[in-house]
Amino acid sequence: MDEEELSYYIRAGEIAARVRDYAKQVVKPGMSILELAELVEKKIIELGGKPAFPCNISINHEAAHRTPVIGDKLVLPDGAVVKIDIGVHVEGYIADTAITVSFNPRFEDLVYAVHEALEKALEIVAPGVKFGQVGKVVEEVLKSHGYKPIRNLSGHSLGRYMIHAGESIPNYHDVLSLRRFKPGQAYAIEPFGTNGKGLVKESKHVTIFALWKTGKVKGITSNERKLLDAIKHRFKTLPFTERWLVDVFNGDVGLLRTSIEKLWKRRILLGYPILVEAGNGMVAQFEHTIVVLDKEVIVTTKLK
Ligand code: MN
Ligand code: MN
Repeated sequence: MDEEELSYYIRAGEIAARVRDYAKQVVKPGMSILELAELVEKKIIELGGKPAFPCNISINHEAAHRTPVIGDKLVLPDGAVVKIDIGVHVEGYIADTAITVSFNPRFEDLVYAVHEALEKALEIVAPGVKFGQVGKVVEEVLKSHGYKPIRNLSGHSLGRYMIHAGESIPNYHDVLSLRRFKPGQAYAIEPFGTNGKGLVKESKHVTIFALWKTGKVKGITSNERKLLDAIKHRFKTLPFTERWLVDVFNGDVGLLRTSIEKLWKRRILLGYPILVEAGNGMVAQFEHTIVVLDKEVIVTTKLK
């Protein structure tokens, strides 16, 4: 990784950290998730970044991948446990960070435990350390508080314009995870903890999409072509929401939605279903992005 790439990672991280802290200040029960997501995404741009994916606002037993749709009326319920997951990129270099805010004293300990799991995991990351060691630490910390990690959610390597660049960092002691952190690579570390089953399943609801088929596409309507071109041009392979495409058909939300659905059903787009805890457990998540260098590890999403 050269100096320039590193500087983009650091700028993206600083913006993401500021936006995350801002989101933590403004989030309140009774607030609409649409308002919250728009505030977050606006702030990213105000600070000189671009959203790397739609602001995820996942509530209670939802672990990830909910973003508000156009005109979304959903409000944060009283006593909610809210995961806010924020992605920022600068020239395609990504910062991925998340917090959980609990408005229910019953789940403050869960939130505390997952926060501790992330901090303890970050302490052991160094070049050459096995990914499985992160999972071991996460699992141990969560178990010491009486919780489980969510085994089928993991951290990941990051690439330019790529949220998941091929490598997974487990959140449990996976003895088969033998790969190691290597210098010059960025990663997101993101433990999820729960009092439920320790697994997520896909719900039927999809609010986030990404370009899947990057090659030539034939046999689509001119409207679908117009939409696909807008998606490629605006987001490349990064995830997006219908909210960011409302202008493509001059505010015709019906046409936008059917066109997205058609491209998705033809597997030209990938849909990310909302992920819910399989035992209906409460879920907390924290996440930081790191850049591993030869002699140090920089947590890009922590403010100095
Ligand atoms: Mn994230
Ligand atoms: Mn992530």
